[in-house]
Amino acid sequence: MELRERVAALMPRAKKDLAELVAFRSVADARQFPPEECEKAAQWVLDAFAQVGFSDARLVETADGSKAVYGERPGPPGAKTVLLYAHYDVQPPLDEDAWNSPVWELTERDGRWYGRGAADCKGNILMHLTALRALGDDVPVNLKLIVEGSEEQGTGGLEDFVPKNADLLRADAILVCDTGGAAVGRPALTVSLRGLANVVVSVKALSSEMHSGMFGGAAPDALAALIHMLSSLRDAQGNTTVNGLDNTQTWSGAEYPAGQFAADAHVLNGETLLGDGTVSDMLWARPALTVLGIDCPPVVGSASAIQPHARARLNLRVPPGMDAVRAQDALIAHLEAAAPWGVHVTVEREASGQPFLAETGGPAYTALRGAMKDAYGVESASLGQGGSIPLCNVFHDTYPDAEIILMGVEEPLTLMHAPNESVDPDEIARMALTEALFLQRY
Ligand SMILES: [Zn+2]
Repeated sequence: MELRERVAALMPRAKKDLAELVAFRSVADARQFPPEECEKAAQWVLDAFAQVGFSDARLVETADGSKAVYGERPGPPGAKTVLLYAHYDVQPPLDEDAWNSPVWELTERDGRWYGRGAADCKGNILMHLTALRALGDDVPVNLKLIVEGSEEQGTGGLEDFVPKNADLLRADAILVCDTGGAAVGRPALTVSLRGLANVVVSVKALSSEMHSGMFGGAAPDALAALIHMLSSLRDAQGNTTVNGLDNTQTWSGAEYPAGQFAADAHVLNGETLLGDGTVSDMLWARPALTVLGIDCPPVVGSASAIQPHARARLNLRVPPGMDAVRAQDALIAHLEAAAPWGVHVTVEREASGQPFLAETGGPAYTALRGAMKDAYGVESASLGQGGSIPLCNVFHDTYPDAEIILMGVEEPLTLMHAPNESVDPDEIARMALTEALFLQRY
């Protein structure tokens, strides 16, 4: 039987397996879900990969207390080594009432499979398994496997583990399977990731709340000052305008059509996207500032008083070509300079992470592009991703010569991290075929 037919024949089993895996409430936060849920998911992954030749698969503990599944499957002597990556932990369900079917029960609707983790990243685990089941013994490379258990928490378990166990995970090509195509049926590799720099800015103007009738107009108002400062971070078109940060870089890969983006982003009026660049420029090549939260009185319960203090938490996305710490410095300097009326400003640094740009000229990329074209019947695109995957930088720093390839089943319709996450089973099948063809040819 041809590889494509073998993958197709394996899809009912992939659905049954994915249903079992989605049923584990593997949110890696013991305050929200019992830790046994992660342990059961880890054991499931271990058993499943043991059955496709990773006979020595075992659990390894990382510094944050989570457990990753590690395994090896030797190939012919002298063959190249490919490391397969995924994660078995998931995002919390958020508003359970917003789900149209049970969060932890894989449910088919209009050809898609719904459930938390169905795409991110358990769908990618099934992609790996389906590819390996289709290949059987015909795997002409050495394989290594790492499926981590705390990716969504940002606690850095695997990021800490990799450099300390560099030989264990060393590979010529690393398939980081936690992204997806441009759309269903339109394959893509993710070649750039934005970094991030977060800060909390606090403003103090008075030592007490004061009556807005008696004092408003002359007394400095901390909340108004904060709003004034925040508004200086965007211009009238919506471009992010942090002093010292270039906001004119352009994206050289695939375009993200504005209409599709507006639909994917659930924009109410699709005509009004931000910025004077293309969607791809704004998402993947330029910095973007988001106000994550503001501390100020809520509307209900607010009084006629001038606010003595206010604060905001800000998130700056940092594109490749920019240093995340220097971007954070620039944001802090901008906020201090923008503070009006002699108010007291303090800016606290939170997390920062560097952007990532893949090197796409090597033999693994070439083999993968070819495999993807044959699996989908169309050329693959190069996309960026606005979010960050800090592990990619760790892999790059630890294995400077390895080719790091980001791909997977998480196309935009998956709504990963949101309620009603889903996966398109055809994407699992096509990506499994891509992976199988790649492993045969690399
Ligand atoms: Zn993920």
